[in-house]
Amino acid sequence: MITRRQFLRKCALTVAMGMAAPFLFPPPPARAAAGRFPILVYHRVGPQTDPLTISVDRFREDLQYLTDRGYRTHTVDKIKAHLAGERPLAGDTVFLTFDDGYADNYLNAFPLLQSCGMTASFFVISALLGQPGRLSASQIREMAAAGMYFGSHTVSHRPLGQLEKWENVAELMRSKTDIEEITGRAVEIVAYPYGSYSRDTLDAAREIGYWGGLTCRRGYADLGGDLLAMNRLGVFRSGRRLADLLP
Ligand SMILES: [Zn+2]
Repeated sequence: MITRRQFLRKCALTVAMGMAAPFLFPPPPARAAAGRFPILVYHRVGPQTDPLTISVDRFREDLQYLTDRGYRTHTVDKIKAHLAGERPLAGDTVFLTFDDGYADNYLNAFPLLQSCGMTASFFVISALLGQPGRLSASQIREMAAAGMYFGSHTVSHRPLGQLEKWENVAELMRSKTDIEEITGRAVEIVAYPYGSYSRDTLDAAREIGYWGGLTCRRGYADLGGDLLAMNRLGVFRSGRRLADLLP
């Protein structure tokens, strides 16, 4: 586990990158097109003022913005159906993801998602489930029954890219099994903590049965690229507003 100090430094760096992003990256395309679509990543929704938390009002505004702009949310496992040739991904597709498995995802985000008829995917740290401030098994079961998807954010939230392959295997396998035991559904997508992964990570994920991997690399996800290394667009307290991310 990283120390709180290291974590806060990582957060500050992430936010700084987000603020610098308009200068470093070209603006995303207006809508999903030709296999490219946006996957947004949130962390916490609540009253805290840390960089990873947005307010309930801000989240409500984001959902309203998506509704007004005609976006439709799907869980990331819908990509699988699309890849199997079942249904095309419409140009108004957006995927909402949450990392880290905080209890406020259930308390604050889940009711708003439901009231808007929207779905999201939650990537949880399996060793922290049921800990203070984190999602419990019963909360996860309730959310999954309401159509929310749950994926792996590993067991311990260590940066996979810095671990040996056997450690990658252990992190990916154990978290997959533990989350599947709670939801009764296959866990085939992983969000890499800190966006960190290596060739060993990708090999381990593929061998264990994951077909999707979510990074912190900024941009639209590309179905024509490596599905185990999909881009996302981070939504942070001080980062760019949704109107800038998804014009
Ligand atoms: Zn995380």
